[in-house]
This record gives sequence, C-alpha cells and structure tokens, in this order.
Amino acid sequence: MKSSWDRRIARANELLQNNAAVSELLKFYQRLARFQKSIYETIAASDEHDVAALVPYFCGLLALIQESGSPVLKQAAADFAATSAEDRLDLLTALWQHEVESQELSPEHEFFARALLQPFAEYLAEKTETATEASPPLCPFCGSRPQVAVLRPEGDGAKRFLLCSLCATEWLFRRVLCPNCAEENKDKLPIFMAREFDYVRVDACDTCHTYIKSIDLSKNGNAVPVVDELATLSLNLWAQENNYHKLQRNLFGV
Ligand SMILES: [Zn+2]
Ligand SMILES: [Zn+2]
Repeated sequence: MKSSWDRRIARANELLQNNAAVSELLKFYQRLARFQKSIYETIAASDEHDVAALVPYFCGLLALIQESGSPVLKQAAADFAATSAEDRLDLLTALWQHEVESQELSPEHEFFARALLQPFAEYLAEKTETATEASPPLCPFCGSRPQVAVLRPEGDGAKRFLLCSLCATEWLFRRVLCPNCAEENKDKLPIFMAREFDYVRVDACDTCHTYIKSIDLSKNGNAVPVVDELATLSLNLWAQENNYHKLQRNLFGV
C-alpha cells in the first residue's frame, strides 16, 4: 500500500499535467513532499519525540528552496542561512507550542517551520489515539487550525471532517457550523463552487467573513485533500475578491 506521502506526491503529479497555472507550485510541492517523507521515515525509525531533532534538517530545506523555491523564498532562505541552531530551535518551538500567533512570524519563516514540523507532527498524531467526535474548531491532537474540510461518503450523504494544517489529523465536524465563529444559521453560511472543479467548494461564513475549502470525496475519490487544496488557487482568488479571508493559509502562504 502506498504511504500517505506517496499518494500526495502522485496526486501532485497528476494535477500538474493539465494545470499550467499551478504547475510550478505543484512541482515545488512534490519536491518538498519527498523531503518531508524522508524526515517522516527517519523520525518514525527512531521514534523521535523531541522537536530539537528537526534542527539539522534546516540545511536540506534551505538547499531545496535554493533549487526550486520562489524568488521571495530563495531570498528569505539566503538570509536565514546565517541563523544559529538556537534560533532555529526557537522558531520550531514557537510554532509547535503555539507560543506565537503564526501571524507574527514572517510568512517565509512560518513556511520553514511548518515544512519541518508537518512530518514530525504527523508521526506523533498517528501514534496517538485522539477523540475526534466532538466538533472542536481546533485540532484535537495539536491545537492547530484546520487547513481544509473533507466530505466523505456515508450512507446517502457525506460527513464533513476537518483536516489539521499541521499534523493531518482528521476530525468530524458538523456540516452547518462555522469553524471560526460557530455560526450555525444556514442562511449565513453560503457555499460557492467553481465551474472547473465540481468536487471542490468554498464554505464561507457571512458573520466572520472567513472561508475554508471542502474537498468532496463522494464526487472525486481520487482527490488527495491537501494537494487538491493547493491546486485550486483560483478559488482562493475568487474568495479574496469577495472579501472572505482564509481560515488557515496553506504551507505556501495562500
Ligand atoms: Zn493537528
Ligand atoms: Zn464564521
């Protein structure tokens, strides 16, 4: 059976074939996912529980960005190369322990930390039994915000789950409920779809003006939510133009 990392890499490959607008982003994502997979495997092999074990991976991450990152990321990686191991550990710890609201970090520094923390957090979350039935707005394992919602077929309909932006835990969440402000009035929770993707929608809230995308696996069983979320940038732009803010920016800051 393919690991979840392999499925993400393969799905990025499928989507970048006929998606010129996001092919560069998806190529970069593929390289990053391969790098994250190698971190995941090393962490799992040594059953590592200490964030400090991620510090040595900064070198590889900065090199990968120099090869294939955006100009802005490349510049930030060049500047970051001068930081000490202590600064690097502080950055990882701050994000992992929610000591700083991520808004206080520059988007590039947040990217560096999240890229390394994701495989670590995912490994720890997989090892842990977490109750996922209570519809909390934040991840029941690590306390991060959801990246995307997932609709999974169940009986005649579909159930909605939220997928954690850091550790990839999925938890059940009521379909008519805003994960940001708990609005539950159906009339305040509009749903928007794009013509290009019939299985991806924007779940918006007119009370707090945030949105989260939903990937409907009952309509497209090949989708890999975290990758399809990246590949549907046009929906983000549409939502932005309509004055909705994304609940949680993805790894690439959009
Ligand atoms: Zn989490
Ligand atoms: Zn809301």
